[in-house]
Amino acid sequence: MALISLTNVSKTYPPAERGGERVIAIDDVTLDIEKGDVYGIIGYSGAGKSTLVRLINALERTTSGAIRIDGRDMTALPERDVRRIRLGIGMIFQQFNLFNSKTVFNNIAYPLRVAGADKKTIASRVDELLSFVGLTDKARNYPEQLSGGQKQRVGIARALAASPSILLADEATSALDPETTSEVLALLKRVNTEFGITIVVITHEMDVIQTLATKVAVMDAGRIVERGDVFEVFSNP
Ligand code: ADP
Ligand code: ADP
Repeated sequence: MALISLTNVSKTYPPAERGGERVIAIDDVTLDIEKGDVYGIIGYSGAGKSTLVRLINALERTTSGAIRIDGRDMTALPERDVRRIRLGIGMIFQQFNLFNSKTVFNNIAYPLRVAGADKKTIASRVDELLSFVGLTDKARNYPEQLSGGQKQRVGIARALAASPSILLADEATSALDPETTSEVLALLKRVNTEFGITIVVITHEMDVIQTLATKVAVMDAGRIVERGDVFEVFSNP
């Protein structure tokens, strides 16, 4: 059974203005992502990639079709259960989305506090994560004192705090220079190989897919137009 399974999923948005056209953001997508995969989703701006991510972590509801996480249909569950499943999904963003008024330590601790962990558990878990992302000496700093790459490492640590089985990365390196991008991609590779965390990588950059992913789906206008192993999909002349 696939860890993430989309069956005939569609998502339409109401027209932006009165009398306008409905936007079909996702158009009948069926997709299985297996446990342990690093699955790339690539496409131009407007292809539907971000919508797909928001559907997978149930920040948005599908218009039709089912999304199963570990066999459980998110579209059929009450919000309370969806919230619990969402705790098992970490997320990182292009603009990092850190809390600017919180220290690095408190950014990483945030999901643990939400989950009701006690102080000692939080302290030791955050220390482990700081060491994993190489930022032990930045624990007391604020995000504005960090470089872009360091901010994204904090984002990764925060996303891992609640020990998720899935990590969603939405254009996670698009705001970074090439060297920093390589560092962050190497760290994400370790997240997959060392912890077995399944990673879904959303990007418009082929390099990111080729460096990190093993499988890829190419999206265009809300549909998957091609998919398969990365070396096969990108080896066509
Ligand atoms: P991508 O991430 O590939 O750039 P998106 O998922 O952001 O694509 O967008 C897919 C389509 O859905 C676009 O036409 C976009 O304008 C539209 N869209 C995305 N979010 C919304 C929204 N909240 N309301 C209306 N239309 C939206
Ligand atoms: P060590 O041998 O030093 O304990 P581990 O491989 O157990 O190393 O863990 C290395 C780092 O990865 C630690 O910071 C730990 O918090 C983190 N880690 C371990 N398991 C998970 C997991 N399932 N999800 C997220 N992070 C984890």
